[in-house]
Amino acid sequence: MNLVLMGPPGAGKGTQGEILSKRLGINTISTGVMLRTAIKEQTEIGKSVEKLINAGQLVPDDVMVELIKERLQKPDCANGFILDGFPRTTAQAEALTDSGVKIDKVLSLEVDDEKIVERLSSRRECSKCGAPYNVISNKPENEGKCDKCGGELIQRADDNLDTIKNRLNIYHEQTEPIKEYYKKAGLLVTAKGEERFEDTTRNVAKALGLEV
Ligand code: ADP
Ligand code: ZN
Repeated sequence: MNLVLMGPPGAGKGTQGEILSKRLGINTISTGVMLRTAIKEQTEIGKSVEKLINAGQLVPDDVMVELIKERLQKPDCANGFILDGFPRTTAQAEALTDSGVKIDKVLSLEVDDEKIVERLSSRRECSKCGAPYNVISNKPENEGKCDKCGGELIQRADDNLDTIKNRLNIYHEQTEPIKEYYKKAGLLVTAKGEERFEDTTRNVAKALGLEV
């Protein structure tokens, strides 16, 4: 299964992507994680995108398309993958189609804007492995520590109010039109993102026709 996960920032793509990865036995490719890793390691790409990302702006399409094309050619994607964070513009969606990558389904997680702001301010992630947490709805067993690797939980640089609003605007203006693109292709399914991630997981399973 080659799956695309869509939804506004904080909709739960990271959490649901991880759950689906385990369930379907395929990797989640998160462009956000890839880019933040590049920034941490101060690679060429990392240095060139750091300011944009911290301001909540999009990385240029050509950079993203190259990055993702290369990533999808790796052997761990041969049996399927879940894309989280790509495509994010119609141009990226078209480039993905043109590159010959076949997408089986596009799942859009739907969450209202008001909820997003609330959620993103309580969001945390592991500084080592990138696993997603939320201090209200998805707490780690030990406060401030990752359940998986013990890494320190941190707040992302782009999870502050101004940047959150900026990312939401960009989502509505540049990313949401992709839904129409994939709807026309007959690939779009939607699921409501709920307060509790378990409820979202159930909606996601239903939308994808998996056993609940
Ligand atoms: P979000 O919580 O906003 O969904 P992500 O972790 O997916 O965050 O992405 C973080 C940032 O990385 C985005 O705000 C954007 O700056 C950049 N980014 C990630 N994927 C893309 C993409 N496909 N195209 C352009 N920019 C991207
Ligand atoms: Zn971790």
